[in-house]
Amino acid sequence: MNIILLGPPGAGKGTQAQILVEERGMIQLSTGDMLRAARSSGTEMGNKVAAIMDAGELVTDEIVIGLIEEKLEGDHGGGFIFDGFPRTLAQADALGDLLEKHGTGLSHVIAMEVNDEALVGRILNRAKEAVAAGGTARADDNEESLKIRLMEYYKKTSPLLGYYHAKGNLSWVPGLGTIDEVTGSIAGVLDS
Ligand code: ADP
Repeated sequence: MNIILLGPPGAGKGTQAQILVEERGMIQLSTGDMLRAARSSGTEMGNKVAAIMDAGELVTDEIVIGLIEEKLEGDHGGGFIFDGFPRTLAQADALGDLLEKHGTGLSHVIAMEVNDEALVGRILNRAKEAVAAGGTARADDNEESLKIRLMEYYKKTSPLLGYYHAKGNLSWVPGLGTIDEVTGSIAGVLDS
């Protein structure tokens, strides 16, 4: 079973993906994590995308599709959770083609619903907590980049809601409850 967790920055996609990994043996594919790993290892691609990420803009479709393509060659485990990918219609088309090439497809696209004020609050809080714990906040977890990230989401990613609705595999879950409540709502979709 392959699924997409779709939602704006701060919706809790990464948190829920990790729970699905632990509870169901699924494999999390987070393009955000892959891009952060690339930049911290100083690869040419990592250096190229660093400034774009910090500004809160989207990196090119070509780069992220390439990252996902590599991962689909490996172990498929209990299915993939796409987290933070696809973020554009071109990425969604490419994912459909890649999955088909591997003889599989998408079972569910789960859209996590959270309002903007909650998103901004959560992300700025995450930044504060990271600093309080003696670490550093993500360079894009500040008010200015966050505004751009939300704008990018509404302009380029939210059209995917219509795209997957038309394909018939979109389900909405409320993203504002406790972590357990959200996990329960997602389980309701996956086990239905
Ligand atoms: P969040 O969902 O909190 O914004 P992510 O870790 O998913 O965080 O992404 C961080 C940044 O990485 C994005 O703002 C963007 O610059 C880049 N990125 C991640 N995934 C993609 C993608 N699929 N397409 C383009 N850019 C991406």
